[in-house]
This record gives sequence, structure tokens and C-alpha cells, in this order.
Amino acid sequence: MTRLQHSQELSTLQSIFEGIDDAIFCHDLDMRITHWNPAAERLFGYSLEEIIDESVYLLIPENRQQEKSDIMRDIIEGKQIGQFKTIRRTREGVEIPVSITISPIKDQEGQVIGSSQVARSIIEENAAEEKQARLAAIVASSDDAIVGKSLQGIITSWNIGAEKMFGYTEQEAIGQHISLLIPPERLDEEDIIIRNIRAGKKVDHFQTIRRTKGGQQLHISLTVSPILNKAGEIIGASKIARNITAQKEAERSIAKSMERLEILNSISKSINEDLDLQHILQRVTDATTRLTGADFGAFFYNRVDQAGESYWLYTISGVPRAAFENFPMPRNTAVFHPTFSGEGVVRVDDITKDPRYGKNSPYFGMPEGHLPVVSYLAVPVITHSGVVIGGLFFGHQQAGIFKEEHEDLVVTVASQAAVAIDNSRLFEEVKDLSNKKDEFIALASHELKTPLTSMSGFLQILERTVPNGIAKSFAEKALKQLAKLNELVNDLFDISKIQAGKLQLNFEPFDLSDLLNEIADTFGQTHADYNLKMSVDGELLVSGDKMRLEQVLTNLLGNAVKYAPDAREVSMMAIRTGSEVRISVKDQGPGILPENQQHIFSQFYRVKEQERKTSGLGLGLYISKDIIDRHGGRIWVESPPGHGATFIFTLPAFTN
Ligand code: ADP
Repeated sequence: MTRLQHSQELSTLQSIFEGIDDAIFCHDLDMRITHWNPAAERLFGYSLEEIIDESVYLLIPENRQQEKSDIMRDIIEGKQIGQFKTIRRTREGVEIPVSITISPIKDQEGQVIGSSQVARSIIEENAAEEKQARLAAIVASSDDAIVGKSLQGIITSWNIGAEKMFGYTEQEAIGQHISLLIPPERLDEEDIIIRNIRAGKKVDHFQTIRRTKGGQQLHISLTVSPILNKAGEIIGASKIARNITAQKEAERSIAKSMERLEILNSISKSINEDLDLQHILQRVTDATTRLTGADFGAFFYNRVDQAGESYWLYTISGVPRAAFENFPMPRNTAVFHPTFSGEGVVRVDDITKDPRYGKNSPYFGMPEGHLPVVSYLAVPVITHSGVVIGGLFFGHQQAGIFKEEHEDLVVTVASQAAVAIDNSRLFEEVKDLSNKKDEFIALASHELKTPLTSMSGFLQILERTVPNGIAKSFAEKALKQLAKLNELVNDLFDISKIQAGKLQLNFEPFDLSDLLNEIADTFGQTHADYNLKMSVDGELLVSGDKMRLEQVLTNLLGNAVKYAPDAREVSMMAIRTGSEVRISVKDQGPGILPENQQHIFSQFYRVKEQERKTSGLGLGLYISKDIIDRHGGRIWVESPPGHGATFIFTLPAFTN
């Protein structure tokens, strides 16, 4: 090599030494640094001036002193140490992971005179490795199944979670097609998933069913994401499957409980509102048959007729009534006894194997053609007073259907049913009594009317014919009292007509303001000491029964006087508002408390405090309401404290 060549080579080496990204430094056998390139400066923080002639051991952390002698030995022996990973210390004392290659430097005789070291930071490499290791640990320890597959659907990776979930080992699964896990009827799901993956789309929380090695079906939630290579191309998919079978079961059981609660709620509501016995029995039978999942259910209910004879009513659910019609009513056999005696619930998985079964003639078991019953549940229905009024029976043709929870549900419904049945019985008794009362009123008022009419005729003649004096004034008083009595009997008579639906109304169009003026005139004559304020808004055409409307108004005015004895003012107003005519009668009396307002329109209702002070039957407002209702109007009272009572009613305005 010529000198020129030599110097050219040197300068090439020099520029490589200067420009290279790896840290390169040399030292002699005393370990003193002789060369230090800019990359070394960047990596370790020492400038060339600072480090030249310093010991190379400066770069070795305290806890790695052992390395010194190892390196020294290898260098002296002239060995090359290729790419070992270790830690070095920077000028700032920061320890950094590096990969180092150490080569001996020899003189022309081949004697080792020092060594060169090439160091490269491996911080990023380490971080990447660490990340990889962490991910691998997560995958390995995950309870979710994490499976990699190619775009052709071939399984490429399989974690422990997948093994636990699906039952296949890694060896069994890898290389297989993913359809291994898919139930046949869901195979097309895979096409859709792969289509999404090819399009770079993720499939998120897709709930589906997969099959285990043992053939068990699992509810899973699937998330499938594309796997990309370094070039960003989709090369496969990673799928994460979470077993949601328990969640699904919990959801199902919640839904079932909700359904049960709803049934229980609706049944308790409907039977408490219902007073019709047959309805109650049917509802209870239908609901409990559904709640127990029975093939059929029956409610046998014992009634006693008016003659004291007991007889059976029953309702059926789940099968047509005809299926039962030809069989005798249950008798007091060993199987039925605990129910009809109220002893307790009978719940048997297979009644045909029960010791109580088949003991009684003539059938010794179920009569021929009877619905097949294997699972059997019977719950007595007992009233509050302890009387057994019947039993609920359920049958299923398979064994072991009825569980404790079903028994509890039926017992709950049975106790509600007993209350409802009691209520309906009371209601029927009250209805019977009420009918008798109505019959009595109808008869009595009818019978009273005839003598009243003739008495009134005779008294009128007497009053007219006797000369003025004490006898005449008695006759007048008697006539007044008779008029009151007549009113009461008329009310009774009206009531019985209303009950029988025979209160006839004769509709005709007329001007209500005329009627109001007539009534006001009469009121003025009979109540001279009262100030009747009238406000009638012109012509007020209505179509109605004049006499009956007069009866309503007279009653309201009469009450305004009767219940406000200390006041001297009553007002009557009538006005047309839209399609209605609105009439009000207002007094200045004590008014009516809110809690009484809702009752005063019912028959025979009188406010307690006034009962003793005033006479009356509590019928006037009831009759008035019936009359107004039948005119298509409304009647109500307004009584703000301290402002008397205002009775208001409306009538549809007449338009021709
Ligand atoms: P009666 O007057 O025969 O008792 P009503 O049906 O006319 O029957 O009235 C029912 C009840 O309403 C009365 O007993 C009374 O307590 C109350 N009531 C009616 N009108 C008034 C009124 N103007 N002020 C206070 N209470 C009244």
C-alpha cells in the first residue's frame, strides 16, 4: 500500500468513525481511553476532551465491576466479544441498556495493545421486547379466549383462556379451521365477520353462541379485530371471546322473576278490584297455571246456597272445560283430603307413586280418560276466619315439575284469592240487602202516596170551608207539614224509580231564563225575608225536562236556605259559556268541608254535624245529579272556606 493509499484509507476510516451512529471508543491496555467518536459523546455525555486518558471503567456502573476483569481477560487474550447486552453509565449517572461489541487492537507484530468498543443503546429495543412480553403475559393469563386466525379462518394462536373455554388444547386447535367452534346453523356468521375484517372493520361485542369440544353451547360476546403486518396489510384477525353464559342465565332468571312479579302484581290488583266471583276464580286459575308451568290448573270452590246446601264451582285453565266435564267432583280421598281439610300443601314429583294414591274405590287412581297427571300440586284456599273455601290443583304429565318456588307462589296467590273471595261474598250479601231495601222503598213510597194525596185533598177542602180562627190555622199548618211529607215521599218515590231505571224525562226545548225567573218569583213569595240576587244572561235555550230541572233548582235553593239559616242572601246565576249553559246557586252559609264534598251526591248521605239540626233524607242531591247526568250535564260543588257553598251545574245549550 502506498503512503497515499494509506492516508486515503485513514481519512475514510476517520470519517466513518466520526459519522457513524454507534458509539465507538478505543482504549489501551491500561484501560485509558484513546479514541472517542461524536456518537460516543452523544450516548455517554462526555466530550472528547473530558474523556481522553480517562479510564474506560468510568462507564461501568458500580454493581457491574465484575465485568471489568472479564473484559480485561478477554482483551489480553485477544478475543473478540460480540454484541453482549449490558448496562453502562452516562456522565449524568444515568444507567442505560447497551449492546457492546469489543474487538482487540493489535500492533504490527500482532501484540494486543488495546481494544475498540462499539456500543449501541438498546432502550427502544428493550421497551419493545418488554411490551411484547407484557402482552404475551396478558394473553396467557386472560380468562377470555384470545384466538388468532388467518384470513382463511385457520387458527394461528390459542391462549390458555381459549383452551379453558372451548376445551381444545393449543396443539388441537392450531391449524384447524375456526368453524370448529361454530354451531352449524351459525356458520354464515363467520363469512360476515371475515368480510368485515377484510374491510378493516372491527366486530365489537357481538353476542352469539359457540360450541365447546364437549358439544356444549356457550353464550359468548365476541370482539374481532384485524391483524396488520408492518406494511399495514391485513393478514388475519384476533378474536376475543368472553363467556357470557352466566350473564345470559342471570338475565333470563331476572326476566322470569320480572314476569312472575308482573303476574303476581296484576293478579292481586285485578282480583282486588273485581267483585265478581267467577271472574276472580278464573283469573287466579289462569295466573297460577302460568306461574307454575302446569299443563293444567283447576280451582275447586265450595259454595253454600240459600237453602244451606253446599255445591261446587270450578274453573279450569290450560285445557278445555270439556276435558273435565265428565268426571266427578273431587271427593275426600286420601290424595285430596289434606287440601279440602285445609291441612296443607301437597306437592309430589310423581303422584302415581305416592302411598296415598289409588287407595279409594271405585277408581283406585285417576278415572279412565282423566288427563294424565304425574307432577301434582294442590294448595288449599282458606279464608281469614279459617274456613277452607276450596283448593287450587295443578297437574303435569312429566315428573318433578313443581318446585318449592312454585308452591310459594301459589300459596301467596291463594291467600290473596281468599281475601278477594271473602270480599266478593260480602259484596254479594250487601247487594242482596241493598236490593231488598230498594224493593221496600219502592213499595212503601207507592203505598204512602195514595193516602197522602187523599189527605191533602180533604185538608184543602177543610181549610177552605172552616171559618177563620184556630181550626183554620191548624188546617193551614197541617197542610204545610203535609207538603213537606209529600216532598219526602216524592224523593223516595224518585229514588226507587231511578234504581229501577224508570225515572222518565220528557225533553223539550225551552228558555231556561224563563224558568229561573218563575222560580225566583215563587222564592220571593215564600221567603220574603231573603234577598235573592239574580243574574241571568239573556235567552238560555236548553233541551230538557222542565219539571225535573225545576226540581233540581228548588232543591238547591231549598238547601241554600236550610243549611245557611243565619244568612239572608242567596244568589242564582246563569250564563252561556261556549256550548254549555252554566247555572249556579250560591249561599252564605258555613259551606261544605272538602272531605264531605265528594260524598254529598250519593244517596242517603248527610253531613254528620248537620244531621241533627236539619231534617232530610240525603236524597235531594243524589236525585239532582241523576237528572243532570241524564241531561248530558255535570253537577258539582265549590266551597272555599269562609265563602259558603256554590252548587254549579251545566246543561248542553240547545241549538237548532
Ligand atoms: P238533604 O238535604 O235531604 O240532607 P241533600 O242530598 O240535598 O239531602 O244534601 C246532602 C247533604 O249535603 C246535606 O245533608 C248537607 O249536609 C249537605 N248540603 C247540601 N247543600 C248544602 C249547602 N248549601 N250548604 C251546606 N251543606 C249542604
